[in-house]
Amino acid sequence: MSQESNTTPDNILVCDGLVKIYKTEDIEVMALQGLDLEIGRGELVAVIGKSGSGKSTLLNMIGGLEKPTAGRIYVDGNDLFAMEESELVRYRQTTVGFVWQNSGQNLFPYMTAVQNVEAPMFFMKGNKKERRQKAMNLLKLTGIDHKADSYPPQMSGGEQQRVAIAVALACDPKVLLADEPTGAVDSKTSNMIQDLFRKLNEELGITIIIVTHDISLANKVSRVIMVSDGKISTEKIMKDEYKKKLDELSAENLAQVESHEEYSVMDKAHRVQLSEELLEMAGIDSNKVKVEVKDGKIIISK
Ligand code: ADP
Ligand code: MG
Repeated sequence: MSQESNTTPDNILVCDGLVKIYKTEDIEVMALQGLDLEIGRGELVAVIGKSGSGKSTLLNMIGGLEKPTAGRIYVDGNDLFAMEESELVRYRQTTVGFVWQNSGQNLFPYMTAVQNVEAPMFFMKGNKKERRQKAMNLLKLTGIDHKADSYPPQMSGGEQQRVAIAVALACDPKVLLADEPTGAVDSKTSNMIQDLFRKLNEELGITIIIVTHDISLANKVSRVIMVSDGKISTEKIMKDEYKKKLDELSAENLAQVESHEEYSVMDKAHRVQLSEELLEMAGIDSNKVKVEVKDGKIIISK
């Protein structure tokens, strides 16, 4: 497999100027516009943005399902841009696990929960008994082992997602990717699934990247990346004091505590994107601004 030396061992994901252009007959859509991103091993990250901002495109690229038009992407030292299709197949089986919004996309309806978890293990070493044992352990880990012999259509949406997460973990992936995993369930179930991701991240140390337009999910993860127009605009990092309280406080009490600190992201050319809201608040309406340094701070004004 292609190895690259410029990825540090601590970063499991490096995106460098990622561009994705979708060409249809008469129109070109630039879904990613030079996106830079680094994610450390063992991080739990939420990628948030409006519909159409490029979240799924990014996730599919990390998952080796799509190739960038330009730019580079490294996952666990693999240069995905340079990989052959056969290497990508192997990569998808062993390095990443996917959870989709609709459990219908994740599960075979005519197989029981435990059979669903065993299915991807077909490519791995081990005998039938070992596979069954491992599948049962994963169902236990995701809290759904009591439904091991049920078929997906007999389960609720939340139960199906628990099975789907066990399926995604079947081949011990390094990275778990989830695209709107709580998009089709109610808010209580959504909360349960969010807690499950946190637990898996803590107990397995697995890197988890969750894509969502659900801002509420952001309160549960330590790093929130905001994507707009195919680029990363701002990042929110959870405050340490909030992290400590997360396990102690109920959801209502938590809502009253400032959870994250928001940062704007500066790209390699030192560009920072300013949101419409910020510009409006500062009364800036022209495309020329004054930039100066005062008291060690950079001030942008009319
Ligand atoms: P999100 O997941 O944030 O809603 P997507 O990554 O799905 O956004 O899409 C980003 C942009 O790329 C949108 O404008 C979308 O219409 C376009 N797009 C996504 N997939 C395709 C495709 N296969 N062909 C053409 N355009 C696409
Ligand atoms: Mg999407």
